[in-house]
Amino acid sequence: MSTFQDLGLGPELLQGISQLGFENPTTVQSLVIPVALDGDRDFIALAQTGTGKTAAFGLPLLQRIDPHAKGIQAVVLCPTRELCVQVASDLVNYSKFAHQYKVVAVYGGAGITQQISQIKAGAQIVVATPGRLVDLIERRAAKLDNVARIVLDEADEMLNMGFQESLEAILGAVTDRKSIWLFSATMPDEVRRMANNYMSNPEELRVGGKNETNQNIEHQYYICRSEDRYDALKRVVDANPGIYGLIFCRTKNDTKEVAEQMIRDGYNADALHGDLAQSDRDRVMNRFRERNLQLLIATDVAARGIDVSEISHVINYGMPDEIEVYTHRSGRTGRAGRTGVSISIITPKFEEKIMQIARKTKANFQRLPIPNGVEVCEKQLFHIVQNIHVQEVIDHEIDPFLPRIFEELKDLTKEELIKRFASVEFNRFLSYYRNAPDININARSDRKKRDGEAAGGPRSNYVRLFINIGDMDGVTKKEFLRLVTQEFKVPGTAVGTIDINRAYMHFDIDPEFVTPVRFGLEEFTINGRRVRVDEAAARKEKAPYEKGSGGGSKFGGSKYGKPEGRGRGGDVRKKKMAY
Ligand code: AMP
Repeated sequence: MSTFQDLGLGPELLQGISQLGFENPTTVQSLVIPVALDGDRDFIALAQTGTGKTAAFGLPLLQRIDPHAKGIQAVVLCPTRELCVQVASDLVNYSKFAHQYKVVAVYGGAGITQQISQIKAGAQIVVATPGRLVDLIERRAAKLDNVARIVLDEADEMLNMGFQESLEAILGAVTDRKSIWLFSATMPDEVRRMANNYMSNPEELRVGGKNETNQNIEHQYYICRSEDRYDALKRVVDANPGIYGLIFCRTKNDTKEVAEQMIRDGYNADALHGDLAQSDRDRVMNRFRERNLQLLIATDVAARGIDVSEISHVINYGMPDEIEVYTHRSGRTGRAGRTGVSISIITPKFEEKIMQIARKTKANFQRLPIPNGVEVCEKQLFHIVQNIHVQEVIDHEIDPFLPRIFEELKDLTKEELIKRFASVEFNRFLSYYRNAPDININARSDRKKRDGEAAGGPRSNYVRLFINIGDMDGVTKKEFLRLVTQEFKVPGTAVGTIDINRAYMHFDIDPEFVTPVRFGLEEFTINGRRVRVDEAAARKEKAPYEKGSGGGSKFGGSKYGKPEGRGRGGDVRKKKMAY
């Protein structure tokens, strides 16, 4: 592993980042810093937020500024005001022991006059939102003739937010630049086009593959009926007692509604959306950043630029249309080497979307049953117990009260005391969840499975998968089990009941292995047909592939009646899929 020294950074910057607690470079820093320090090559760095990308461009940018030259030498373009402020403050912090470069952040929604005076006072690095910078150029307040380097931070987000024209105006205006450094979490066509039009032979630096999500993030999803979505959200939150989470909704109204409901239900939650005045947004963000707020409910636009490193969970309460948006959302957790969980609470029709995202991002998505009341209470109880364990005791503050406390509690045994302390919080959850129904969408089939388990049948938490191959393709249980265990490295114990019918089959599998098995199988063809896998439990009551169901399956009912190949010992060949 390389060190910051190996990457070629000067001692003053090294001192600055060491004081910030950066011991070793992150992957994106190791890849980018040497390229950015050497020569004037354009480059594209594919990196998510939270990977340390600000220092990856910020440190070399600072090192390459001529401290004595006047005028703007570098421009960093960011999608939001929050990110501008964050990046500018990071640059100042990195250079704490170096020359005091003049870094100015300019963005819309704030007075322009003061920003103009700050630039005129000798800005060397301008961190800007594209719209505001264009405004400043037009007013001749920002002269970009001496700009050597332009950084496009979160280029995909900037294009998403409609900044294309402004970006083109800025890139077109800075003709004498030496290089463009483009950072983007994803690489949609718009970003590719911009790179082709304005960059010269850019080097591509990838942290993981295109669209790949951060490996530190676990992806989970829960399926419920539309009318149970809010209850499912509460259960998920309650089953994660220490949660510090960001909940995404699709619209402002949803955001407001969910926040209002959660506040009414006693959660420490608040909303962030476009209808709030800037001062209210700042107030909510500050409360969240300082952890005085446990749950922030936000729209995608409002959440842009949120840089909070310790978010434990991102919850997709409304699924986004674009895969890139999912990647951005989930990238708000699992930052700076920490682990995080990205949860989606969906109705059955969105499961296909989850599968699409899983295919594109190559992330492993695990379907989990929505916790029942007992499970939530258990989680809460043990959280209380753990908290008691790690509770700091400030002796000199509590000591004066102890004699009276001991006197008050002297009749209770140790066991009784423990029971009562643990019950203080626990009772609240117990009374709320005492008669809580099972809101899993497949509650009926689960109940059947549980009954089966008691009788030695399959385990209740298995997921049942459907495959479009069957007896007539020559598949046997033994052969299928061998395929799953040997090809996809799934332990035999993870596979439950296998039911083979003439044209299709079902099998039960531990949820942990659903994604690899599903995608593994879908890479096969059998007798010339591509293998299709679907989650049986998520289908409608009447399986569309059953005869007389009236169709409705995306696979088309007739396929199963007219297989292209028959006979035992079918030709199972591997086929590469192009996602
Ligand atoms: P960014 O991707 O730039 O938003 O960075 C995410 C977080 O990681 C920020 O809180 C940084 O302070 C932190 N960070 C960046 N680089 C390092 C590093 N090399 N070591 C530890 N933390 C880092």
